[in-house]
Parts: sequence; C-alpha cells; structure tokens
Amino acid sequence: MSPEPDARAKTITANVALNLSGTPLRAEITVPTHVFELRQLLPTVRSLSEAIIGEAVKADASNGFSVSCRSGCGACCRQLVPIAEVEARLIRDMVEEWPEPRRSRVLARFAEARRRLEEAGLLERLQHCETVSDDELVPVALDYFTQGIPCPFLEDESCSIYEERPVVCREYLVTSPAENCTRPTAESVRRVTLAAKVSTVLTRMGRDPATELTRWVPLILAMEWADEHPDDLPQRTGPEWLREFFQRLTGKIIPPPRAPEKEKPRRRPAR
Ligand code: SF4
Repeated sequence: MSPEPDARAKTITANVALNLSGTPLRAEITVPTHVFELRQLLPTVRSLSEAIIGEAVKADASNGFSVSCRSGCGACCRQLVPIAEVEARLIRDMVEEWPEPRRSRVLARFAEARRRLEEAGLLERLQHCETVSDDELVPVALDYFTQGIPCPFLEDESCSIYEERPVVCREYLVTSPAENCTRPTAESVRRVTLAAKVSTVLTRMGRDPATELTRWVPLILAMEWADEHPDDLPQRTGPEWLREFFQRLTGKIIPPPRAPEKEKPRRRPAR
C-alpha cells in the first residue's frame, strides 16, 4: 500500500497492489484524513469485496464453473446470515427511516421471524452467539436452516435491499445447480471460493487487534441487537481504518502511513 497524502484536499489516496493467495487485487482508494465512523468506510469496503469476488468468479469461469445465482432464487436467503455490527446498525437506521407502509411491513416480518425462532427454541441460542467461532456456529446454522425462515428483506424471492445488502450476502455465490440450494450439502453445493472474506474482516474492525474473535450479529435479529447495543466502535482517520482493514485482510503488519510533509519555510530573498 503506498499512500499519497494530499493535505489541501484533506483526503489521502492509497494505491493498493496485493496478492491474496495467488489472487491479484489492485485498487486506488481515497479516504478522508479526519476521524470518522466505520460505517462511512462501508462503500470502500464493499467495493474491495466486489473486486475480490470478481477475481474469484473470473477464475472459476475460466475453469468451467459459472455462477448459477439468479434474481428470483432466494434459497440462500433462508440461511443464517452473520453480519458485522456496523451493518446491523446501518440496517436498523435504514429501516427506521423508510416511509410507511414499507417500514411497518418489514418490521412485521422481523417480528414474525422472531416468533418462529422462539417457537423453535433457537432465539436464545442466536441472542448469545456474537463471539462464537465458525465451528461452533455450524450446528446453530443447520438448525436455523431447517426452519426455512425467509430474510425479512426477501420479496418475490429477490433481495429488496440489493444495493445495501450485507457483504456476506455479496460473497455467497454458487456454481452448482440453483435447485440444489434448497437442500444444501457439502457435496451438492459448490460455492465460489474467495481468496479472502471481507465479511469476516468487517466483523473484527474496530475491536481489539490482539483478539481474533469475530463479533457478528444474526441479520434476523439486527433490529433488536442494534437497539440494545449502543455504538461503542472507535472513530479513526481514513489511513488508520485502511491500515487496520488491510492488516486483518492479509494477516501482515503494515507500517503506519507517512504523515504529510510540512511545508518548509521560505527563505527571505537577500536585499
Ligand atoms: S439481505 Fe438480501 S441477499 Fe441478504 S439474506 Fe436478506 S434478502 Fe438475501
């Protein structure tokens, strides 16, 4: 990463050239130099995720595996969707700002999903699994899927918040026949393998770098989770957020960006 500070514009541009397990990633990223909340970095994070996904899709296509996901196929939207806390708060705020009757319609779907989770004895398990590991998550996810609870944003089997959907939803692409997703098994569903999962990085952003624990929220409980958990994520400058993001993405230590050079005082011309 080679940052180029531009003190006048109060932004900084980083030219990123990475090799993620053999997958190249090149991007030019411009961020503000002042401190801001992680949610303001989301457009950048999403586009980096799309770049990684794009490379993986290209690699699969060149090996004869084409993505079979289509609009109108919402089988994966009945799975447990683990999102980052910053995304949970974004979803809560987005829904709260929607005009009626859209807002009430979606809130009713969240309430119905909660009722079904409670009835199935899954609600409490989901309310206390923010920091469980991927392995511990598997049995919960399997039990969840058997309930067939649609995501509250699924309308006519399509995502109604497509542009704002969480990163983990963007990352879920398959190359096996679409109908296999209704009864997915490790053998019947072939997922596009990504060089790095930005969704996992996002669940760790702003938290203690010493811990590798993720902190995620089940999308189905995003509304109540966001209400119960005030935003305690730190604010950082653009370069600090980017440094943390790429450190977590690559697992490598990245030196702090250079501070902008101070302008040298001009010499007075001799009289
Ligand atoms: S947010 Fe959209 S893509 Fe993600 S699970 Fe819900 S409906 Fe599906």
